[in-house]
Amino acid sequence: MDKEVFDFFNNDLQFIHGVGPVLASKFNDVLGGRRVLDFLLHIPSYVRPREILDSVVNAKVGDTITISVMVKSHKRGGVFKGRRRPTQIVCADKFAAPLTIQFFNVNYLDYWTEKLPIGQWRIVSGKLDLSNRDGAIINHPDFIETPENASKIPTNQAIYPSGEGLTQKTFSNVRDQIFKIIREKFNANNTSENMLEFLDALEHVHFPESNDDLMPNSTYMAKLAYCELFAHQSAIAINRALRRAKINTRQLRAKKYDLIDKFYSILPFQLTNAQQQTIDEIFDDFTKPIPMMRLVQGDVGSGKTMVAMAAAVKMAETGAQSVLLAPTDTLAQQHFAKIKPMCDKLGLVCEVLTGRDKGVARREKLISLKSGRTKIAIGTHALFSADVEYKDLGLVIIDEQHRFGVEQRTAMRTKGNNPDMLALSATPIPRTLSMTVYGDMDISIINEKPAGRLPIKTTKLPVERVNALIERIAPQIKNGAKVFWVCPLVEESETVDMMAAQLRFEELNKYFPGTGLCHGQMDKKMRDKVMTEFADEKSNMRVLVSTTVIEVGIDVPSATIMVIENAERFGLAALHQLRGRVGRGSKQSFCILLYGNNISPDGLKRLDVLCETDDGFVIAEQDLMMRGVGELLGTKQSGWIQYHFVNYREHRDLFKLAQTASMNDDINENIWAKKLRKIFDCSTIAGA
Ligand code: ADP
Ligand code: MG
Repeated sequence: MDKEVFDFFNNDLQFIHGVGPVLASKFNDVLGGRRVLDFLLHIPSYVRPREILDSVVNAKVGDTITISVMVKSHKRGGVFKGRRRPTQIVCADKFAAPLTIQFFNVNYLDYWTEKLPIGQWRIVSGKLDLSNRDGAIINHPDFIETPENASKIPTNQAIYPSGEGLTQKTFSNVRDQIFKIIREKFNANNTSENMLEFLDALEHVHFPESNDDLMPNSTYMAKLAYCELFAHQSAIAINRALRRAKINTRQLRAKKYDLIDKFYSILPFQLTNAQQQTIDEIFDDFTKPIPMMRLVQGDVGSGKTMVAMAAAVKMAETGAQSVLLAPTDTLAQQHFAKIKPMCDKLGLVCEVLTGRDKGVARREKLISLKSGRTKIAIGTHALFSADVEYKDLGLVIIDEQHRFGVEQRTAMRTKGNNPDMLALSATPIPRTLSMTVYGDMDISIINEKPAGRLPIKTTKLPVERVNALIERIAPQIKNGAKVFWVCPLVEESETVDMMAAQLRFEELNKYFPGTGLCHGQMDKKMRDKVMTEFADEKSNMRVLVSTTVIEVGIDVPSATIMVIENAERFGLAALHQLRGRVGRGSKQSFCILLYGNNISPDGLKRLDVLCETDDGFVIAEQDLMMRGVGELLGTKQSGWIQYHFVNYREHRDLFKLAQTASMNDDINENIWAKKLRKIFDCSTIAGA
């Protein structure tokens, strides 16, 4: 039962009719996977009504309208005397009210004039705009159909969160294909009742009839959310039982060295109380016979690295080894640069191992690890490659823990004998949720910044004022300030109003030659190179324009200005994280949140929260309360579990229900729970 459903779920999207390898890889970027299942778990964020209107006269500017128009004339665009003019198709609705359709990309001029021939009726659908000269305008309509084909325009269009190179039409075509197969193939003969209900709920949310269907508490959304929570909670319950059954007595052994006091004495600063308390909690875990599983939450800049270092030093006292896993090469190198000199003073061998290490140098490092000589190893996933062996791996520290999947964590754990695990995360999570979200982890909180840090001055600014902003920061840049300039990716590829990182880069480069650009389409090597150059104090790269790929945790102390464009499109937690890239040195730092014209009142309120507070916990609580209003960018980096259907605010009761259910049942025996864990890939939950 259900095996065929799973086979279908696991199909590569490339084998769905109309999808080839190129599209499949674009889907991969947006969905985080390229299976049919990845598509199914990616649901529309809202419904856009496209019922046909009678006249353009009553329509509101900014609304998406669908209307029958008669094409009157063509004004072909092009470049005239160095100025670019759009192609205009002048039309009128059936009451003769004028409407102009406008296209900016002159290369496709013939194509559009052919689609809108003079003297014929067409149905067009798109966002209504108004211009002083031409009156009602639609720029680049989403649909242009002949009257016979009117039904090709969906009355209630499901809008999917999208990304570069994927249109809403592609999404709906793929969806139609997938559900056609589901309807044909699966029935009571070959599929369990639970699974059929699950598929049915999915179908309802992929074909929403109104926005109500997509609300967290609609019947089908709530059902799917419960399934997802149950999957996660049951995984947590199983993990808990497994961990409690393990034994780790490493720390009970006699000390070989006495290093920790020496470590304290060489610290260039006084630890904060919160740091010290966290260290005490970790050392206390070390004395217990079950492996430690602790998460340290502390805002960016709260000094988590030193806490991790203290743990590694304590571990070295027993003769055991520690690894510090960073999500990127750059971060690993940064940690190494900081930690190595301290290790030298303590007489501990410390090495860095990343994908860059090759040949003899790498071999020597591996020998040193295997012999137990290296006590602290810092690196990326290269640390758990198949040929890397440890003599006695006692502690695995994971920096920016949400960036690692469970396979990676498990791979690391099997390199030692039930090693202790310490995860570091920059995203505070409200206490009310931490149990259910982080599962079986003990939590330490660093809620205090090192003394002497200046709070980052945060302001919001409408994007039209960008030139004033450039003028204001120019002198600071001359004086050596570095600037992160973040542009979001296009979320919905239909929208044309978004300033792409590329354009902004070109513009800023005119003012600040040597500006760098870094985005997700670039290959990793190039990205690392740009990032490293920017981080280099001496380099001339003063401004770095990037999409949100800028490394979590990257430390550029001379970076004092953070500009975030379309800030209204990011979640609070993501904005707070981004802001944390500056304010790391002793100089005053600034964060400027640029927002677009159509920011909502709620959006403005969100930005105000950022302007008013720097406290990660306050922001996390607000984030939780505001969550669920559409899909916000940057949640992937926020350190929260990426639920597909669960809404943190609206489903608090479901959290409790699912938790109770997972504790009552003998969860190992529950077949449906097992299938749900597979569907929701519960291997990625923290603690697993
Ligand atoms: P994060 O928690 O974001 O990982 P880091 O560990 O990178 O923060 O620390 C940020 C900076 O603060 C580092 O340069 C670090 O050396 C410094 N730092 C850490 N603890 C203290 C402290 N108690 N007093 C002063 N500076 C500190
Ligand atoms: Mg850090």
